[in-house]
Amino acid sequence: MTNGATNGTAVTSPFDALGIRSALEERDLSKQLRMGPLEKIYLLWVSGGSCDGCTVAVVGATNPPVEHLMAGIVPGLPKVELLHTLTSLEMGDDYIQTLRMASQGELDAPYVLVYEGSVFDEDLANDGNFYSLGRDPETGSPISSTEWLGRLAPKAAAVIAIGTCAAWGGIPAGEGNPTGSVAVMDHLGKDYRSAFGVPVVNVPGCSPIGDNFMETAAAVLLFLQGLGPLPDFDELGRPAWLFSETVHRHCPRAGYYEEGVFAEAYGDQECLVELGCWGPVVQCNIADRGIVNGTGGCMQMGGPCIGCTMPGFPDKFSPLFMTPPGSLLSSNTSRVFGGFIRRIRHITMVDKNRTPRWEGVEAPSGWARYNTRPRGPITLIHKAYRAYQHSKIGG
Ligand code: SF4
Ligand code: SF4
Repeated sequence: MTNGATNGTAVTSPFDALGIRSALEERDLSKQLRMGPLEKIYLLWVSGGSCDGCTVAVVGATNPPVEHLMAGIVPGLPKVELLHTLTSLEMGDDYIQTLRMASQGELDAPYVLVYEGSVFDEDLANDGNFYSLGRDPETGSPISSTEWLGRLAPKAAAVIAIGTCAAWGGIPAGEGNPTGSVAVMDHLGKDYRSAFGVPVVNVPGCSPIGDNFMETAAAVLLFLQGLGPLPDFDELGRPAWLFSETVHRHCPRAGYYEEGVFAEAYGDQECLVELGCWGPVVQCNIADRGIVNGTGGCMQMGGPCIGCTMPGFPDKFSPLFMTPPGSLLSSNTSRVFGGFIRRIRHITMVDKNRTPRWEGVEAPSGWARYNTRPRGPITLIHKAYRAYQHSKIGG
């Protein structure tokens, strides 16, 4: 596979080795495209059906912070020129001019398109627009976000759908929505490839973890720089290293689940499954990463997982905050077996809370409000346990 290169000669595509069909094959984008090292790259942020929660999440990111990308001080990464309604000083036509130049291939550097929110079906808006950004200078008509997506995606070095609305449709695409909202992937189609040959990258979450986006964007930029491989994405375009584990496996409350102890009311510290937690089947890393700078997160703050990172959200997780039907089997099994294990563990814990010197006597603590000395069969269990434990010494 060969393409037009920046000097006009044919070269082998760098994507052959990756097995990715590059859009370079069909179009001559040699004036806009350079494989790194790049001095700078544009990050064009376009919003559709969104609540701006993804923007707020990214502003709070710390790994790396967005301002470090904009200052060009992250080693190995190009300086990022961010075009976002929140951060840009340009207004009106000056703001739109960058988008216009990008869509016409006139920018002086490649760009990554970040799309936040669902993609509206503007045909359903009758004479109006669901969401528009600027006007067409020739016709004077508003340009919808959906149209900007169509104009910008073909020449983008990569398209990143941020948040569940952009990645899967999310709440605006929920049952009964009047806007015909779909995901970026739905709108661009299965065969879409960016100018650098990359399918749509999805960073879901409602809102997403800001650092998940920043880490993914940084990994994609390293790839575009020619300094790293294409990051590992799963079959739905999620960063595989962030979304392959379930919430439950890393939940700070997982030990309660295993021992069959469940919260009955909000504010309880135990497992939240009976209050509507879908964590055992949901792919999300918030239990590990927290929401901002390693702190917060759903279960950490007492909230059950409602599956906001998943393509089935929200319809397949409704009614929210109700016990998931499938959990009845697993939680009742945990209640029986986990309850037994929890009691056995407690007996061992009592023994390990006593020094060998206190064998058969009370612990010399003035804090004890009750008699702490094990008695009767519990003492025998402790002795048998220790005998077995030490029987392995020496092989
Ligand atoms: S709160 Fe949810 S994720 Fe955590 S242990 Fe319970 S079911 Fe699993
Ligand atoms: S734990 Fe569940 S509700 Fe919380 S962010 Fe992850 S997927 Fe969304």
